[in-house]
Amino acid sequence: MSATPGVIKPSAASFMLRITKLAISALFFTISRLIKNLRRMAGRRQAGTCVVLYYHNVPTDYRHRFEWQMQTLAQAWTAINLQQLSDLPVDSHSVAVTFDDALESFAGNAIPVLERFGVPATVFAVADAMGARPTWGDSYFPAEERVMSVQSLRSLPESITIGSHTRTHRDLTALSSAEAANEISGSRQTLESVLSRPITFLSFPFGAFDDSTLRQCLEAGYERAFTTLPELVSGDRFVVGRVAADPWDWNLEFRLKLTGAYCWQPWVSALRTKIKARCARIAGNKREGSVPGAAAPGAETTPSVGRVRVDRAFPKL
Ligand SMILES: [Zn+2]
Repeated sequence: MSATPGVIKPSAASFMLRITKLAISALFFTISRLIKNLRRMAGRRQAGTCVVLYYHNVPTDYRHRFEWQMQTLAQAWTAINLQQLSDLPVDSHSVAVTFDDALESFAGNAIPVLERFGVPATVFAVADAMGARPTWGDSYFPAEERVMSVQSLRSLPESITIGSHTRTHRDLTALSSAEAANEISGSRQTLESVLSRPITFLSFPFGAFDDSTLRQCLEAGYERAFTTLPELVSGDRFVVGRVAADPWDWNLEFRLKLTGAYCWQPWVSALRTKIKARCARIAGNKREGSVPGAAAPGAETTPSVGRVRVDRAFPKL
């Protein structure tokens, strides 16, 4: 997710980062397509794949851009809802669309477009913030943005699934176990009772989760939880990664995101984490005067599995 243009001035560094990601993704796409074609020529069938996009706001000024994106999606790929993730047909590629925060601009500008192009979607609502200002996104959203009211959520069409985005949009990994349980389980109860719809999916605020929050999601009865780690989905998993999308994405950026070309990022982050850990271990060894190669003090302590952990495979729960 990037800030709505005009809310904050983009820096030269963020522009360069965006260009670099685009270039790597284009290369990744070329190589993956080549491998895929070779496999096909060898007569090998391939597991079905899916990219789950996550949006936030769709400002009126960018509605036409969102229209182009949904038209492109509908023409090139199969748009599916999240319930279909567990049954991806062999040799197929699908795209699912989600929206975090349940903002009014989603209701006003995105829904008519989704209906027009027959694209199902899921919106993740913050149970205790309905009708309020999304204070957690002050540096991302325009000042006039609001969270959908209870009435707006109740009037959503059947093609829109509603999921939980917790009670108050706090980082679950920074809370006590009791507080996190209340956010996870309490939000489901509130949304189900207020909206009279089953709530079976949860999206982690800031993409942050750990082993404890995963356990609590299972205990609360969720069928799937979604994070912000870009992932080409294939196979049935409890935690599903998603690719960030915005209406102001460049055309090429968006087309590549649809194919899964941006899903190289976790591998690079995992490599970076490993290098950092190795450097820290070496530095620790030097400080302690220990034998090179021996485990550094504290190296066996359990690492945090919090905010967008990218160096850890999703558990198959
Ligand atoms: Zn959010």
